[in-house]
Amino acid sequence: AKNAGRNRYSYFTQDMQAAAQLRLRITRDLQMAVANQQFELHYQPIVNLHTGAIERAEALLRWRHPERGMLNPVDFIGSAEASGIILEIGDWVFRNAADQAKRWQQELGRPFQISVNQSPVQFRTGPEFFEKWMHYVEQLALAPRSIVIEITERLLLEDSGPVVERLRQFKAMGLQVALDDFGTGHSVLAHLKNFDIDYLKIDRSFVMDLAGDSGDLALCEGIIVMAHKLGLKVVAEGVETETQLNLLKAAGCDYAQGYVYAHPMPPAQMTAMTRGPARL
Ligand code: C2E
Ligand code: CA
Ligand code: CA
Ligand code: CA
Repeated sequence: AKNAGRNRYSYFTQDMQAAAQLRLRITRDLQMAVANQQFELHYQPIVNLHTGAIERAEALLRWRHPERGMLNPVDFIGSAEASGIILEIGDWVFRNAADQAKRWQQELGRPFQISVNQSPVQFRTGPEFFEKWMHYVEQLALAPRSIVIEITERLLLEDSGPVVERLRQFKAMGLQVALDDFGTGHSVLAHLKNFDIDYLKIDRSFVMDLAGDSGDLALCEGIIVMAHKLGLKVVAEGVETETQLNLLKAAGCDYAQGYVYAHPMPPAQMTAMTRGPARL
């Protein structure tokens, strides 16, 4: 038994060593990726369910890795956060998204917003980063409300001092704020009234089984009623079927995003799509 225990232990450390090595390699690759501009933003339309218009798109990070091909955030965000490189990447994401918002607004001749995801790591830094963003937005002559900052519920559960400060800074800049993955955290409801948030994004896990699970439907309906009473707009994410879409419309949901409309796509493709109304 002792032997087995030792064996298990050595497997364990081998695994940990392998994981640490992989992490180190990804970190090195990430540094190269920043320097060599291997990142891209893909965009997924967010549709206003009252008007059918594509009002906004979420910017989703992709890494065109020279050997491993196109990588999704799940493959590298953890390493980027652990190594702190996420700060540089996040800076690039914001500027790139702001440029794109400006471009689309000029081409479309109407307001168009872009949502950008924020890592909690970015939120814990000082105000300097975001002051630079403010200047960037000013230089572009971009209306600050063109940018929606997406933060996760997890963040609001942390020590809220710095988080409140950062959120206040975003709002003072005129940016909008969306609370992502809503419903997956715990006891966040009580915090809702203390944070100045513009959009709630109902997590995909509640949307997925909307047609089959009357409990999920009741939850979505409840969230929408509550959000509206608090003056928030609701975005349903991960909407894949027309049935889900119709249930959400009937429940008074304001926006939807998901494969039912489109997968995330490169900007050129998104440009073509913004010209027309959404298909459904
Ligand atoms: P998220 O913010 O919840 O983004 C939504 C994810 O759901 C995206 O995955 C999107 O491709 C996927 N999705 C959209 N519609 C559907 C659908 O109908 N069905 C299904 N099954 N999935 C759908 P993606 O692009 O792999 O991004 C994963 C996560 O990585 C994001 O989750 C976000 O938390 C993070 N992320 C993405 N871009 C950035 C970034 O620029 N910075 C940071 N810090 N995190 C990012
Ligand atoms: Ca998001
Ligand atoms: Ca989400
Ligand atoms: Ca999610």
